[in-house]
Amino acid sequence: MTRAEPPQPGTGLASSTVPPGPISWPAGVTAAACLTFDMDAEAAVLTADISSVRRMSPMSHQSYGPLVGVPRILALLRRHELRATFFVPGYSAHRYPEVVRAIGEAGHEIAHHSYFHENTIGMDAKTEGDMLDLGLRALRDVAGVRPEGYRAPMWEMNFHTPALLAERGFRYDSSLMDSDHPYVLAVDGGASLVEVPVSWGLDDWEQYAFLPDLIGSGVIESPAKALEMWTLELEAVHRLGAAFVLCCHPFLSGRPSRAEALERLIERMKALDGLWITTVGEVARHTASLKLTPRACPQPVIPADAYWVARPPT
Ligand SMILES: [Zn+2]
Repeated sequence: MTRAEPPQPGTGLASSTVPPGPISWPAGVTAAACLTFDMDAEAAVLTADISSVRRMSPMSHQSYGPLVGVPRILALLRRHELRATFFVPGYSAHRYPEVVRAIGEAGHEIAHHSYFHENTIGMDAKTEGDMLDLGLRALRDVAGVRPEGYRAPMWEMNFHTPALLAERGFRYDSSLMDSDHPYVLAVDGGASLVEVPVSWGLDDWEQYAFLPDLIGSGVIESPAKALEMWTLELEAVHRLGAAFVLCCHPFLSGRPSRAEALERLIERMKALDGLWITTVGEVARHTASLKLTPRACPQPVIPADAYWVARPPT
């Protein structure tokens, strides 16, 4: 008895993308570091569970960010004469207009971070475009800002998101994770966008976010552990000549001992030779000036012949 050959998937599955290479930095610079703050406030929790709008304590946990965390972080940055990038959901701008204006007046970059910190998984392009427009309008109305950059809520990009950003004139995104180096992302239709990549190990959410039933891992790590992890990554990225992009949330890293740990990290950054501590917008502008060949971050193809592999719902 002969057995039929199983199907042989393979054709058309190979990724067409090329690895991102190191980039050249401005004269005297060997690597870059960006301090970024995502001012999620209430929106991040309301998106997780809208009924939490009735829960006073979780709401107060989130409002700690703009009310206490941001002023503490602004003072820290002022002490060290550093500029940072604040990614602000439109809803946070509407809720805390004075705080957002203070960020801009202190000379920091204000960038786009959705409207309501929406869950964008599976979101269609029309809805996602409307969300982007609402966020743009909020930042314009509140702070008079037209942001150059975008960061997706929970770093969750759809494959159609880059084209929506390019259509709206964004210069960069900072939500993808396939590189240590900034690069130029090819966008459908021939446009391009600078990508300044992130990584979960450099997000304070994984270290500190604890809000029963709502967000986080259920653990609260020591700031000493976070500082150790981030310092190791900072030094390795510096040796590599790449970009260190730290993502902090004022409602988390704005707490006293965590802000002090952040200050220790800043002191370490300032001691590194040739480290350019700047905004994501500056890194994006420099990267755009290099006229790099755009590279794709293509969607994986599902093997057609492997009929037992599940398909996403249409
Ligand atoms: Zn966020």
